[in-house]
Amino acid sequence: RADIAMYQAKNSGRNTVRFYDPEMQQALETRAALEADLRQALAEGQLHLYYQIQIDSNGKPLGAEALIRWLHPQRGMVSPAQFIPVAEESSLILEIGAWVLDTACRQLAAWQQQEATRGLLLAINVSAHQFRQPDFVDAVSTAISAHNINVDRLKLELTESVIVDDVGEVVAKMHRLKALGVRLSLDDFGTGYSSLSYLKQMPLDQLKIDQSFVRDVVSDPNDAVLVKTIIDMANNFRFNVIAEGVETAAQHAFLKDNRCAAFQGYLFGKPLPIAEFKILLDSLPA
Ligand code: C2E
Ligand code: MG
Ligand code: MG
Ligand code: MG
Repeated sequence: RADIAMYQAKNSGRNTVRFYDPEMQQALETRAALEADLRQALAEGQLHLYYQIQIDSNGKPLGAEALIRWLHPQRGMVSPAQFIPVAEESSLILEIGAWVLDTACRQLAAWQQQEATRGLLLAINVSAHQFRQPDFVDAVSTAISAHNINVDRLKLELTESVIVDDVGEVVAKMHRLKALGVRLSLDDFGTGYSSLSYLKQMPLDQLKIDQSFVRDVVSDPNDAVLVKTIIDMANNFRFNVIAEGVETAAQHAFLKDNRCAAFQGYLFGKPLPIAEFKILLDSLPA
């Protein structure tokens, strides 16, 4: 390609050849700008939690997943799929994670003040980088005490990416979290690379079937088999199982028929700001 200039890097040894790609440079600058903006967003209160409902097989609300939103004054709404990966490359994810934990626990405390919302569960997403911090368990414990919440209503969604090398250490940390009383869910299940032998060691409460399997579950026989297998395995391990990304009545029916007990997706509600979430809750059977 003509726009790739190759040059011998001056100070990095005789045999090092570097590629200079203007597009890559552009991408790096965009990323740096995004990171700077994100730091400011955190300081200026541009981050918000939205709440997406989770329901049981009778259509009753079980609770919600908190999903972060960045409402940027110029960019508009920035998707977490865009900024979480950027945050994950710096310590920003730790600050964001701490903010999410605190904000979610405050919301949970508010729910627990009201009879109608007292039983709701609130799930938060924990990044692998955050989970790996030596003081992560202490941070969760501190947030629980600070907001004085009934701890078994708090659920942490982890992904298989928490497992990097030392599985024993990861499992031990999960046990320490379980000892606090929080629930653990394995998010995006089936998309990672962890082996089933890890799964049996983990003190999980829930497996969350990734939406990529739910999407074509009605039309693709392979996805149907996969989803059925995950549900059976979860039921046999006595984990509860939730499907994410449920958009159609047909997907919902398939999942229900195959003994999936909990559901989340646009069919029941999009992630909503808290006031709108409350309206949705009020419209559902108690
Ligand atoms: P996730 O935890 O797997 O969250 C599920 C994603 O699926 C959310 O995207 C949700 O809005 C979307 N979704 C839910 N139902 C449907 C549906 O029926 N159809 C479709 N097409 N999508 C649906 P969102 O909110 O954009 O978040 C993307 C990812 O960003 C999350 O995936 C999670 O990995 C990450 N994330 C979001 N909030 C946080 C946070 O507070 N902390 C961390 N560390 N990561 C977060
Ligand atoms: Mg999640
Ligand atoms: Mg997920
Ligand atoms: Mg996902």
